[in-house]
Amino acid sequence: MRTSKIKAQKQKKPGMESKMVPKPEYIRKGYKSSGKLLNKIALITGGDSGIGRSVALHYAYEGAHVAIVYLSEKKDAKETKELIEAQNRKCLLIKGDLSDEKFCKKCIDATLKEFGGINIVVNNAGTHFSERDATKITTEHLKKTFETNIYPMFYLLKALLPYLSKGDCIINTSSVTAYRGSDHLLDYSSTKGAISTFTKSLSTMLAKKGIRVNGVAPGPIWTPLVVSSFDKLDDFGKNTPLGRPGQPSEVGPAYVFLASQDSSYITGQVIHVNGGEIVGS
Ligand code: NAD
Ligand code: MG
Repeated sequence: MRTSKIKAQKQKKPGMESKMVPKPEYIRKGYKSSGKLLNKIALITGGDSGIGRSVALHYAYEGAHVAIVYLSEKKDAKETKELIEAQNRKCLLIKGDLSDEKFCKKCIDATLKEFGGINIVVNNAGTHFSERDATKITTEHLKKTFETNIYPMFYLLKALLPYLSKGDCIINTSSVTAYRGSDHLLDYSSTKGAISTFTKSLSTMLAKKGIRVNGVAPGPIWTPLVVSSFDKLDDFGKNTPLGRPGQPSEVGPAYVFLASQDSSYITGQVIHVNGGEIVGS
């Protein structure tokens, strides 16, 4: 479903994948897996829907068991779990708010308890509030954006680090807005800049241990996050060189590459899955 024209329909319930029209594509038809992540354990935040669901599904196809953290979208999370289990892989669902440090620790503990280890962490949960007038960015939204998008990366890392070893990896979801800026997502794009820099700094910190840290910076991707928070969607993604928004199915494979041995000599880098927009690194 790589339509160049996506007719957006306002969601009845914001943030719900199950209500999206048209439905996003999570994995392309005929995707050929090859056991690249066989029996690895992956923890994916925001794995219930959108890009995170695509990553979870690709990882399951590649043989990994998956723990998914989500805020409140029970129906989406359940559907993702079913998709993973259909691949004969296990899926642990963890519901809660990642801006709470104690909950982040719980996510790591629950994953260790269920699977006995963690090999791949995908920091992907995120939120944004579109606002063109900087004076109208409320302190509440500003804090929520930073507390959701960047703080949990530190919280999870602190709880996680003792259990990571050589060959394991962390992958962070940044955004094209970190590289080209945004006239309506001032606070969000700032958190994404922080995430890209966090990725570089952490990679240098963990390189000696053989733990790799990389990022993915998506452009406009058809997910619940955009549908629930942007007013104007008919032109979404049209100004990219490829002239259309991307599907989650076109982002997931970058996370497979970064989690697998295929990228064993890559750390501290960000892959730009953005429809062809040329940005600096
Ligand atoms: P999405 O709505 O499907 O995923 C975001 C998920 O984050 C939600 O499902 C929710 O469960 C989770 N989440 C939000 N706040 C949370 C909290 N406090 N605690 C726990 N979980 C929380 O949308 P998506 O577009 O797939 O977003 C995934 C990531 O991709 C985000 O980091 C987003 O910034 C990034 N991104 C998206 C686009 C795009 O165009 N869709 C572009 C660039 C970057
Ligand atoms: Mg969701």
